[in-house]
Amino acid sequence: MIKRYQMTIGGQPVTADAHAQVRNPANTEEVVGEAPVATAGHLDLAVEAAGKAFRSWRNSSDAERVEACEAVAGVCADNAEELATLLTREQGKPLDGVGSRFELGGCSAWASYTGSIGLPDRVLEDSGERHVVQQRVPLGVAASITPWNWPLIIAIWHMVPGIRTGNTVIVKPSPFTPLSTLRMVELINEVLPAGLVNAVSGGDELGAELTSHPGIDKIVFTGSIETGKKVMASAAAGVTPVTLELGGNDPGIVLPGANPERFAEDLFFASMVNSGQTCGALKRLYVHETEVDAVADALARFSANVPMGDGTHEGNVLGPLQNERQFKRVIELVEDAKNRGGTCVTGGKAAGGPNYFYPVTFVTDVSDGVRLVDEEQFGPVLPIIAYSDIEDAIERANGTRYGLGASVWGMDEAKCDRVAAQLEAGTVYVNKHAEIQPHVPFGGIKHSGLGVEFGREGLAAYTSIRIINKTA
Ligand code: NAD
Repeated sequence: MIKRYQMTIGGQPVTADAHAQVRNPANTEEVVGEAPVATAGHLDLAVEAAGKAFRSWRNSSDAERVEACEAVAGVCADNAEELATLLTREQGKPLDGVGSRFELGGCSAWASYTGSIGLPDRVLEDSGERHVVQQRVPLGVAASITPWNWPLIIAIWHMVPGIRTGNTVIVKPSPFTPLSTLRMVELINEVLPAGLVNAVSGGDELGAELTSHPGIDKIVFTGSIETGKKVMASAAAGVTPVTLELGGNDPGIVLPGANPERFAEDLFFASMVNSGQTCGALKRLYVHETEVDAVADALARFSANVPMGDGTHEGNVLGPLQNERQFKRVIELVEDAKNRGGTCVTGGKAAGGPNYFYPVTFVTDVSDGVRLVDEEQFGPVLPIIAYSDIEDAIERANGTRYGLGASVWGMDEAKCDRVAAQLEAGTVYVNKHAEIQPHVPFGGIKHSGLGVEFGREGLAAYTSIRIINKTA
């Protein structure tokens, strides 16, 4: 019997006439469950419920909002094993490693931290003439649209700052990974007032209907650049504020003389986290031409000891690609690179079977102009690109439409800092990559996004400024 999951609207479980099956990417013969396919009518109900809840939640006290964030953190902690197991079965990431349990731990940590910060009123002037105060007020109903790579933590990143600042939220998960989000929102509704957090599931068209719905006051979207542009266009009709966290093609530059053995493990996980399906993963690595082989060998040696397999089996560290579209795309990019002279130092071919596993693959003898370098691969494949002149490497690193993260790796801190200062990205790392923290604003520049999440700057994105100006 295949389990049917439910949406949550106004605190109530809601089903639909149509359902979509979700399959396990580690074994595509297994149906994990079914998600309701929401209609326009469901969406109207969700907007109405969130709007009704907003009319009282906007007046909630700071203490009530902190309590709500803590309650969400508690739900994620108390139900971590159930949610992690479901997440592994629908998303593919292992329970272990930087996998589902890690993601659930992050959900609690982010919810709790977000509760601990706030946006208190600021007195801008208190003079003999006037008293001027800046307040941060909620926007209303926030629409959250999430991707399939880190579905739960991204939903938390959207929802919790929303309710912390007095908004209510409607989450629409990716059609590839809706089940764990539906379940998490159901559990959260056991501890929060009805209508604060709602979940509707459906295909891409539901996302388009949600972002263009006249009852939406804020859109927070995480996904691809192409969809992000559509979201921004549909937000224009209502002059709706948007936060866009979009794709990346993060470069890393290894300076000459860096010790490959010392950096191999960090470079490996920076690029292979979640089998490369991470927006802020390292996606192309520039290495001095005399050291490409040493770096590639060190990475290949390290990868030999990293098990990939069914994520429900304890001990596996890497899982499959999440869906067929992504699986085919990674194959296509590697085959194209091979045809353009690329060498797979390791990997380079899927083993086959009813699954989307693709092996860890390091590709040398490729350069800018090859699709694997120019485009976001979003898989366990890293091109290692030779450079001879560091200024040229910096120019190539910056020479794309992307601008999420970038990194520089080397033994001499001053040299690293000099390169870091020239890299164009929302976050520039030195001797690491893909690290995020709840108090550090995170976002992309150029086509990689608009606005930031996390910290006070992230909270501010769910508010507008109201000035109270009085004569003294
Ligand atoms: P996607 O853009 O295909 O889908 C994301 C979400 O948008 C899904 O829920 C989808 O149903 C919905 N959607 C599709 N069409 C829509 C439309 N017209 N209007 C509104 N919503 C619509 O992205 P994906 O393939 O699920 O995710 C992978 C991408 O997400 C990668 O590019 C990755 O880099 C990016 N990403 C970015 C971040 C970040 O923080 N910058 C984080 C995670 C993922």
